[in-house]
Amino acid sequence: MQISEKEIQQLVSQIVQQTIRQDNQSEVLDKPAVKSELTTLSEEHLGVFDKMEDAINAAEKAKQQYSQYTIKDRERFIESIKKWTLKEKYDLSKRVVEETGLGNYEDKIKKHELAARTPGTELLETKAQSGDTGLAIIEEAPFGVIGATTPVTNPSETVISNAIGMLAAGNTVVFNVHPSSKNVCAYTVTQINRLIVNLGGPENLVTMVKNPSMESLNVMASCPKVNMLVGTGGPGLVKALLKSGKKAIGAGAGNPPVVVDETANIQKAARDIITGHSFDNNIVCILEKEVFVVDQVANELIESMVQEGAFLIKGDTIESMKQLITVEDQDGVHVRKEWVGKDPYKYLDALNISYTQKPKCIICETEFEHPFVQLELLMPILPIVRVENFHQGVDYAVKAEHGNRHTAICHSQNIDNITYYAKAINTTIFVKNAPSLAGIGVESESVVSFTIAGPTGEGITTSKDYTRARHCVLVDGFRII
Ligand code: NAD
Repeated sequence: MQISEKEIQQLVSQIVQQTIRQDNQSEVLDKPAVKSELTTLSEEHLGVFDKMEDAINAAEKAKQQYSQYTIKDRERFIESIKKWTLKEKYDLSKRVVEETGLGNYEDKIKKHELAARTPGTELLETKAQSGDTGLAIIEEAPFGVIGATTPVTNPSETVISNAIGMLAAGNTVVFNVHPSSKNVCAYTVTQINRLIVNLGGPENLVTMVKNPSMESLNVMASCPKVNMLVGTGGPGLVKALLKSGKKAIGAGAGNPPVVVDETANIQKAARDIITGHSFDNNIVCILEKEVFVVDQVANELIESMVQEGAFLIKGDTIESMKQLITVEDQDGVHVRKEWVGKDPYKYLDALNISYTQKPKCIICETEFEHPFVQLELLMPILPIVRVENFHQGVDYAVKAEHGNRHTAICHSQNIDNITYYAKAINTTIFVKNAPSLAGIGVESESVVSFTIAGPTGEGITTSKDYTRARHCVLVDGFRII
């Protein structure tokens, strides 16, 4: 029998793969086990493609190869992504700030540390049901190729966190990142691929289009090779993905309200609110966006916030700030995008307001109807509304949350009040007596994720949400009791 050169190559490739799978102990392998036939832009840009179609095809091919790898292999790849993220967090944070112009360097480092804590395969579980007629097992299988979008507000953090969760579940992923963060995302995707290939994994487990656009987003959303969509971003994006006809996870906008009642530890409440609100210049979706405080303790709360580093603006200055950061047209008042996520002192400089030290954020008292309360500003500017009593605060909070089902925060020692608020607001995340960040695992028992799926209900998404249930039914013979 004659064997062609191609067949010899295939045999060698199979043997190499087999050896790799047997050698779970080996940390680093000299050569990649599988080389994709699809070519990427260059060695420098592993996983980054000129065309969305090519990015999808590469992820689809990688999916076939990835299915040959063990769960231990997935864990090795994820571990190396986590280690790399922790090592490169300073450089990544610098790149994000430089490219997007949003947020601040110090908090981006913390966000990358957080992304590296995203859970992986440990959350996956197989369930079993047994009875008189045998056994059924339900396994969490990969969904396939996932098409994911990332927001400009957490670009590399979401690429890393999504990649960990999605790869843990055995999927491959193609990203359509926000165009204003395409360079840092391309760098992140390249490095993730490099790490995986160096560990003997397939190329292109994670891919993206080099120049993302609404058009490339549409290609991704409509391509039959993409099995699931995960949209992290604003409300328009989520609505568009939900119309695709595919399984879609929608992680949309928030406008998290805080309610503070007269039983709260006011100094701690002030510290927690300022810590959460001022994080990364307030560009994270779960952070405190407006406060409703019972009149009786409002002055104390505001004074305590100033002691915590907030800058209080009053009277005409609030109107000037509104003119600066919002714009009105026939459709209503909108946020001026160019003011999203800037350092707090820059807003003061723009209005020629002097300050003795750079503030952590700007606070002001407003009415409930004020645009600072109603709009998701994503700026370190926090409106505070006095309310007559706790129930009025909850009523306002529910209205200001706009049914996003995202995040709400409560400062109170009254269990009945806390329970009442939690039921009424019906959000995915409800944080009690802590900064909002506790909702995604910062100094709390909650799980870490950068994709909070309120509209579609998965909650704080993890690897489990990127799986499909497969049932294997074994009739007779497999039951041992
Ligand atoms: P966005 O909706 O403008 O962008 C998100 C995604 O939409 C991008 O990655 C991109 O794929 C697509 N997109 C939007 N405009 C595009 C364009 N011109 N060209 C190509 N693609 C485009 O949202 P954003 O401003 O990047 O992020 C901020 C919003 O996301 C806020 O509303 C915030 O609350 C929300 N967010 C939600 C979560 C969550 O987990 N629920 C997490 C982070 C951010």
